[in-house]
Amino acid sequence: MIPSDVAFDRFLREKHARREKRYSHISSRIAVEDLPPEHLYHWIAKWANHQLADIGVNSTAGVVLPPLHFELIEVNNDSAGAHTFEADEWGFIVMTKPMLDEMLRLSRLLVDQNPVFMTQQIAPAASAQEISELLLLMQFCFVMSHEYSHLVRQHLNDRPPYADALGVSLRQAQELDADGYGIYHNLAFFFNGRGRALASQLLKISSPKHLENSILSCFLLAAMLQFCARWAGKMRVEADLRAEHPPHPVRIEYTILFIEMWCREIGAMSTTWMTDGAIKDYFSAAARLFPPKLKATWDKQVSLLKSPRSEQYLTEIRRSVHRLRTGEDGTPPP
Ligand SMILES: [Zn+2]
Repeated sequence: MIPSDVAFDRFLREKHARREKRYSHISSRIAVEDLPPEHLYHWIAKWANHQLADIGVNSTAGVVLPPLHFELIEVNNDSAGAHTFEADEWGFIVMTKPMLDEMLRLSRLLVDQNPVFMTQQIAPAASAQEISELLLLMQFCFVMSHEYSHLVRQHLNDRPPYADALGVSLRQAQELDADGYGIYHNLAFFFNGRGRALASQLLKISSPKHLENSILSCFLLAAMLQFCARWAGKMRVEADLRAEHPPHPVRIEYTILFIEMWCREIGAMSTTWMTDGAIKDYFSAAARLFPPKLKATWDKQVSLLKSPRSEQYLTEIRRSVHRLRTGEDGTPPP
């Protein structure tokens, strides 16, 4: 088997030679191994590859995957994004440097702007630096597991599951399906897996109840940061099945739904945060980090989604996501 860096370089050279637009902004992989081990880029790439090497059949629900490899990549613009593709015998998950830099900046900014909430509710004994490190890690995991889920859920296959049945809504349903599968993966990691010790160490919390509440709050905040950031990069008000991604308010709504389902069905945890105003506060805290224009167009998008014009679109999305997740035909009850 050829080494992953050779496979990556070869893949990129081929794509550039064919002038494929999707990959034209990618310049190269970042040689993180040449950086000091404590450098964020080096540390996180090594950590990600360690996690990917460790994924068992349980997590893939029996789907056989190629060996997976993470690369942090240099781009010739400021595009913040992540992609997944297969090359030679490898499955790659890549993240652009601007995206990781943005995660770091947003984590720090969120902690700096909400000192009372962070120290009184999230983690009284942790430093601002430590809380922001957990928020960074959670944003990273959120995006990574979304990409990973595209592979596990076989969205990249030539004939992906339910392609014929879902038709035009397939693409957006796959995005929400990847969000959902990724979220289940993340929550299992942070509540029951090795992520729990990591969170406890960074937040300096030993009480199980307090730790679980703080993990949940940080995870919700991390998700909101990512959706606001992606929205800020592409503010287009629409409810259209032909668009590549569902509108971000729809993704947030489903994210909250998936987290709530996990808490209820797997985590056996309280879901009072759904109704006690916490969600609204978290969203406002994330949205405040961006220029006011973000909130204005976001509100416009939300009104469009609430208008009768979007009813058919939302029904179609609901039916399609239900089909992908359960294999069942028909629309689930609201
Ligand atoms: Zn995706």
